[in-house]
Amino acid sequence: MCCSRVVVCWLLISSALAALAASAPEGCKKLSVDSDWPSVDVWNTELKGNEPRGPQKSWTAPDYTFEASRVPHVQTAVKFAAKHNVRLSVINSGHDYVARNDAPSGIRLSVTDLKGIRILESFQPTPKGAESVDKTTKVNTIKPIAGKQAAVTIGAGITIDELNKALKPSNLYAIGAAHGSVSVAGGWAQSGGHAPLSSYYGLGVDQVLEYKVVTANGSLVIANPTNNQDLFWALRGGGPSTFGVVVEATVKVHPFPKIISYSFWLNTTDYDDTHSIFTPAAYLFSQLPRLNKENGIQGYYYIHRNALSANWLIPNEFANASAIIAAMDPIIAKMTAMPGINAKSLIKIPPTVLNTTALGSLQSGDGGQSSSIPPKPPAHLVRRHGPGEMRAMAKGNIAMDSRLLGADELTHPDLAKALEKAIGTLPNAQLRNHLTGGGAVLKNDPNTSVLPAWRKTYVHMIAAAAAGEPNLQAMRDISPNMGAYVNEASVKNPNWKHDFWGANYAKLAELKTKWDPDFVFYVTPGINADLMEVKEGRLCRVKGAPAKLAQDMAPKSDNANEGEHEKARTSWPLLYMGKGVPPKMVAGAKGM
Ligand SMILES: Cc1cc2nc3c(=O)[nH]c(=O)nc-3n(C[C@H](O)[C@H](O)[C@H](O)COP(=O)(O)OP(=O)(O)OC[C@H]3O[C@@H](n4cnc5c(N)ncnc54)[C@H](O)[C@@H]3O)c2cc1C
Repeated sequence: MCCSRVVVCWLLISSALAALAASAPEGCKKLSVDSDWPSVDVWNTELKGNEPRGPQKSWTAPDYTFEASRVPHVQTAVKFAAKHNVRLSVINSGHDYVARNDAPSGIRLSVTDLKGIRILESFQPTPKGAESVDKTTKVNTIKPIAGKQAAVTIGAGITIDELNKALKPSNLYAIGAAHGSVSVAGGWAQSGGHAPLSSYYGLGVDQVLEYKVVTANGSLVIANPTNNQDLFWALRGGGPSTFGVVVEATVKVHPFPKIISYSFWLNTTDYDDTHSIFTPAAYLFSQLPRLNKENGIQGYYYIHRNALSANWLIPNEFANASAIIAAMDPIIAKMTAMPGINAKSLIKIPPTVLNTTALGSLQSGDGGQSSSIPPKPPAHLVRRHGPGEMRAMAKGNIAMDSRLLGADELTHPDLAKALEKAIGTLPNAQLRNHLTGGGAVLKNDPNTSVLPAWRKTYVHMIAAAAAGEPNLQAMRDISPNMGAYVNEASVKNPNWKHDFWGANYAKLAELKTKWDPDFVFYVTPGINADLMEVKEGRLCRVKGAPAKLAQDMAPKSDNANEGEHEKARTSWPLLYMGKGVPPKMVAGAKGM
């Protein structure tokens, strides 16, 4: 960690200015302009190894970055933030869409380097917790024992790609985000966590058997079904960077699955017809609960204004090619016969057994939700993780909107109209439907605090576009009892407490007060976020009752980093050109 002379001068000047200033107002976090801001000496003795922002860096960044490679580093940073009442934000893989991994003051604690993997034949919760790992832990192999739930203990910075590479020699598999460089124990497993095979194995929160957590007073705490059960419950869905810093997790692992993939594409006869696609789109939705239950069909389904496509994944006992064809053919025949649909545009990639390499590519960090049609990495992630990026970079909010949809919504009589309204007119708008619910996701584990609507969910719909703010109000209108997945949502989602945590919010709010009464951790959207407010750049306790924002939105984040749209993904349909399909069938070509 470097500290140039310019930075030292800057810090001395800041300290001198602080000496002339007033102290932080009561109930507020300190800023570097306050007289009671810790001196440079204090920073350097109590948080050794910190990296100051300095004047040359953007003011959107916090004052100090601190990288933890061992658990005591996390404890030191949390204790420092609590003792000196400065802001603390936590960053891991840097994939956050809703701007919770950074703040414009205080310490940014990076946990990316908390590594280590130990595979376990089975796991029994104890007060001591699983044997700890760190980056020197040598990955072991095991022979899974029939009838026993195998598990793995991982450092919080382990990504799903790293984990599955380590599990493969034991012929085991863990679920995680579809993008391989998302961490497992960070935002994904603390907020819900859907995955290419979550319909088969359950949500991310369902996988967790134990967390090790540094809580607001800097203690290292074991949270599992027999120790600190309330914290264990809160961390399994209550949201990240709210109850503590997770430093390790022990999660379920599964025998490496056999998977068949199946994909198809369909578009309108007239490229400018932005109406006809929604009737077949709604019809396909209506079939998903049955296809999921009877044929184990899960995966990803994309709707464009004039086309739709699906990439299904069918695991293990469901992976039967003729059964998939028999289930899908009549549905596709009905869709292609609908008015305005070009039957000749149909492309089917027949059931294909994914070899182990292709399955790896589902989570290989290439954004790969479709192994048969691999998309390019989204540009903003290349910048986060590409050459020259030494670590995850904090970004601001990325415009999107989302809604969880259950069987009632997928068979709703007004669904086609709602879809047409929902996709709107923004450039390159898409409805990205994650058929990652259903199946095991529907089985409620009362020991999780994830939004209860997940347990009715088949489809997590995300609206995205190349510019502007997607708005799924039309979907909210037909799904008043559902909600949205907080990790991939609009930060302007109305009725935020109901929609992100539902009936679990009240208990989560009590537990937030119990485990972090002084808001050492603060994120928005997050539990009790409305008890704090940002006033003139300073995070302070709200005096009196929290103000209700228009439409009951969560308080606006003061993370001022640039957000961006996922422009790169708008090129997905064009990938069909590479599959030997005549260009006239490609969306974008006139006269199809
Ligand atoms: C390209 C892409 C693909 C995605 N695919 C999926 C998907 O398939 N399924 C899905 O469910 N989600 C997916 N997501 C969303 C992802 O789950 C969230 O962005 C998640 O919050 C990322 O967590 P992270 O820790 O890896 O990232 P970060 O941005 O580093 O952190 C996210 C949040 O978690 C907090 N946090 C991180 N680590 C810890 C910790 N150890 N203890 C406490 N708090 C912590 C941070 O403070 C922040 O609030 C995707 C996101 C992207 C950008």
